[in-house]
Amino acid sequence: MLINFESKRKTMICPSCGGETSKHTTYLNRTLQDLSIIDKALTLNIRLKKFSCESSDCSRKVFSESISELAKGKARRTSRLNDMMIKLAMTYSAEVVTFRNSKYKKSR
Ligand SMILES: [Zn+2]
Repeated sequence: MLINFESKRKTMICPSCGGETSKHTTYLNRTLQDLSIIDKALTLNIRLKKFSCESSDCSRKVFSESISELAKGKARRTSRLNDMMIKLAMTYSAEVVTFRNSKYKKSR
C-alpha cells in the first residue's frame, strides 16, 4: 500500500542562521516504510520542499524540510516502525533466552 503526501508548508526556518524564508526552489522525494495497515506493508512517499536561505550573510544556501516527527535524518523507516522492530527483536530474543535456559535446566 502506497500513500503519497505533499507538504503545504509555505515558510521554513533556516537551520544555520535561524532566519525565516519563503523562497522554495525544488522538491525532494522521500520514501519511508511505515507500520503495516490491515496486514499490508505501508510505504509513505513524501514530497518535501527544498528552501533557499534569503540571508546574504548565511553560508547555507539550500536546505530541505525536516520531518523529524516522522523519521530521523536519512532513515528509510519511520521512527514508530523502528521502535516496533526494536521491541519485537527484544521480545523474541528474550523468549529465545528463556527457551534455551529452560532446555538447559531440563538436560542437567
Ligand atoms: Zn540561513
